[in-house]
Amino acid sequence: MPYEAVIGLEIHVQLNSPTKLFCDCANAFTEKANVHICPTCIWLPGAVVQLSGDALEKAALTCLAFGCDISERSAFDQKVYYYPDLPKGYQLSQHHRPLATGGWVDIAAEDGSERRIRIHHIHMEEDVARLVHETEGRRRIGLVDFNRAGAPLVEIVTEPDIRNGHDAMAFLRALRTRIRYAKTAECSMESGTMRCDANISIRPAGSDRFFSKVEVKNMNSVRAVGNAVTYEISRQQKLIESGEAVVTHTRLWDPDKNVTTPMRDKFEGPCIPDPAVAEILMDEKRIEALRKQLPEMPSAKKERFVRDYGLGGEEASLMSAERDVADYFETVAEKGVNARFAAQWISGRLFPFLKEKNREIGEGAITADQAAGLLGLLENESVNAKQGREILALLIDSGKSASDIADEKGYRQITSRDELSALLDAVMAENPDAVANLRAGKKQASGFIIGQAMQQSGGKANPKMLSELLAEKSKP
Ligand SMILES: [Zn+2]
Repeated sequence: MPYEAVIGLEIHVQLNSPTKLFCDCANAFTEKANVHICPTCIWLPGAVVQLSGDALEKAALTCLAFGCDISERSAFDQKVYYYPDLPKGYQLSQHHRPLATGGWVDIAAEDGSERRIRIHHIHMEEDVARLVHETEGRRRIGLVDFNRAGAPLVEIVTEPDIRNGHDAMAFLRALRTRIRYAKTAECSMESGTMRCDANISIRPAGSDRFFSKVEVKNMNSVRAVGNAVTYEISRQQKLIESGEAVVTHTRLWDPDKNVTTPMRDKFEGPCIPDPAVAEILMDEKRIEALRKQLPEMPSAKKERFVRDYGLGGEEASLMSAERDVADYFETVAEKGVNARFAAQWISGRLFPFLKEKNREIGEGAITADQAAGLLGLLENESVNAKQGREILALLIDSGKSASDIADEKGYRQITSRDELSALLDAVMAENPDAVANLRAGKKQASGFIIGQAMQQSGGKANPKMLSELLAEKSKP
C-alpha cells in the first residue's frame, strides 16, 4: 500500500534583542558560563518578571513577516515541568493565548510546483538553561549554564502540510530568509539561534486518518532536518509494513550514524495561566506602525527584479535571497551597470571570491561603488576578464576605486582602433606566410596573428576588437 507522510515542524528562533525576555541581562553568547545572570533569570526568591518591549516588537515583526494575524490580547502561561535547566519549575510560554495565528510560507515542492505551508501559530517563550555533562575523575557531573536562560524566543508551529525531507528543507530556508529580511534574528541552526523539531507520522496515501506521530529532535543544520525526516519516514513505513505499530514517542537524530534513536521523554505537566505576567495588548495602530517597519519581502522583491531589471527567474531568486545581497545588487544596478551582467558577476564571481576570503557581502570588504566601477570597466572593455579578476583581488579592503587600480597596474586595454590597426599591420607585415594562409581560408592563421598582436601589446590589446579588425583586413 502506498503511504504518505504528514509532517509538522516546530521552530524555535532566538530573537536578536539586546536583553533577555523578562530581565535586563544581555542576550548574548559567551564562552564563560553564568556571566549574564541576575536574580530573575536564575529565579531567586522575590524575582519579578517584566516583559522586554524590544523582544515583543521583534516577535510581532517576525509574525507580520509571515502574514500572521496578531492577537489583540495574548498572555503567558506557566508550562510546568521539573528539570535542572529550569529552576522555576515552569517555563513562561504562551500556550493558551499565543501572540499570533495563521500565516504561511510558499515553497517550491520537489516537482517544482508551488506549495503552501500554513503556519498554525507563533508564540513567545523564554529559553531554558544549558546543561553540560562532564566527568570529574571517575564521577560524572552535570553543570548548569544560565547565560541562555530567559533568552527571548519565538516558536513557529506549522500545520502538518509538509510531506517529505525536501519540503522541510525548503520551508526552513524560506523561513530563515524572511526572518533575516525582517532583521529580527540571526537564524543559524549551526550556532543554535534556530532549532527545529519535527513531528512525523505516515498514513495510507489519500487517507485523512492519522497514525501515531513521532517527534524528532537534535538536528543542527537544515540538511540534517531533511535527512532526519527522510530516515524517519522510511523507518515508520517499514514498521507498518511488517505489521508493527508506531508508538508516540520522542527520538534524537544522530548525525554521525544518520539514524534516529529513542530518547527518554521529559515529564511535561499542565500549562497554567501566569497571573504575575501582564497581559499583552496590541492595538491596530501599534500593529500598523510595526507593519510599516517591514521591508519589501523576498517574493515581492524577486518579482520586481524580473519586471524592472529584466533578470531571469533564477538570477532574481539569487539576488533576492538575502536582504544584504538584494541591497548590494540594486545599488550596483542603479549606477548604470547592465543589471543582468551585474547579477551574473555578483553570483558567479563576487560570491565565490568573498567565500574564499571568509567575508560577507554586507560588511563592506568590497563596496557596491567599487563593484560598479569594476563592472563599468569590464562592460566597456577597458579591462579584460583576467585583469578584472586581478583588480577584484586588489580591491578588497583597499578603499581604492577599480579605475585607480587599473591605472596603477597599467591594466587598461588598448581599445583605440587606430592603435590596434597599426599593431595588426605590423604583425601582418612580419608574417606574410600566415597572412597568405588566412586569405586561403585557414582559420588557425587568424588565431596565430591575433596571438602575436596580443603578445606584442603586452596583453593589453582588446582581443575582440583585434579579431574584428583582422576580419576586415583579410577580406579579399
Ligand atoms: Zn537576568
